Amino acid sequence: MARRKETSRVDLFVSSIRDWSGSNMRRFSFRRSIAPYDVLLAELLLRKTTASQVDRVYPRLIERYADPFMLAKARQMDLSNLLAPLGIHSRGSAMIDLARKIVDEHSGIVPSRKEDLLCLPGVGPYTCAVVRTFCFGKKEGMVDTNVARILTRYFGYRPKTRRAHNDPQIALLYAQLLEHQNPRLFHFGILDYCSSICKARNPNCLQCRMRTKCEFSRRLNRLGKS
Ligand code: SF4
Repeated sequence: MARRKETSRVDLFVSSIRDWSGSNMRRFSFRRSIAPYDVLLAELLLRKTTASQVDRVYPRLIERYADPFMLAKARQMDLSNLLAPLGIHSRGSAMIDLARKIVDEHSGIVPSRKEDLLCLPGVGPYTCAVVRTFCFGKKEGMVDTNVARILTRYFGYRPKTRRAHNDPQIALLYAQLLEHQNPRLFHFGILDYCSSICKARNPNCLQCRMRTKCEFSRRLNRLGKS
C-alpha cells in the first residue's frame, strides 16, 4: 500500500513536469545541440549566470570557436570581450585551459568517461552528469540547486549534506525518475518549472498541480501559510 502511494507520488511528479513543459519549455539556443563540446561550453557559461544572458552570447561563441582546437588557440582578450555581457571576464581563461586540455590529452574530443570528464578544468559532478546524459546515452542524476530544491520539497527529503545538491541520495532519486523519460527534455522541464513555479523564494504552490502530494506545500497548509 505504502509502495503504491509512493509510486503514485512519483507518477504525479513525472506527469506534471512532462505536461507542463510540453507547452512551457523555454527554447534557448544552447539547448539545441547535443554535441559534447557545445553542451560543455553551455554548462560552463550557465554557472552563476541566467539562461537568458547566456542565450544572447552563446551563438556567437560557438560560431567563433566551433571546436576545442579553435578555442585552445583563442586570444584571451577576444574571448573576454565576447563574454563581457555576462560579467564573467575571468571565465575566458578557464575556457581556454579546458580546451587546451581536451586538445592535449584527448585529441580534441570531449571524453565520455566520468573519470576523464572530472579531470577537466571547471567540470564538476553536475556538468559531468549533464554531458554524459545529454551526449553519451547515460541517465545520471544531474542535481543542481534547482533540482535539489524541487525534489527535497516535493518528496520531503532531508538532505544529509550541507548543500542539498551534493547529497548522493538525491542524485540517485533523480536518476530513478529519469529512467523512463527522455532525460534531456525532462531535465529542461524541471529547470523551467523551477524558474517559473517552484521558485527558490515564494513558490507558486497554488498554480502547481503537484501540491496535493507535495510535502512542502502540505506543511505550509498545516501552518496556515498558503
Ligand atoms: S507545491 Fe509548491 S513547493 Fe511543492 S513542488 Fe509545487 S511549487 Fe514546489
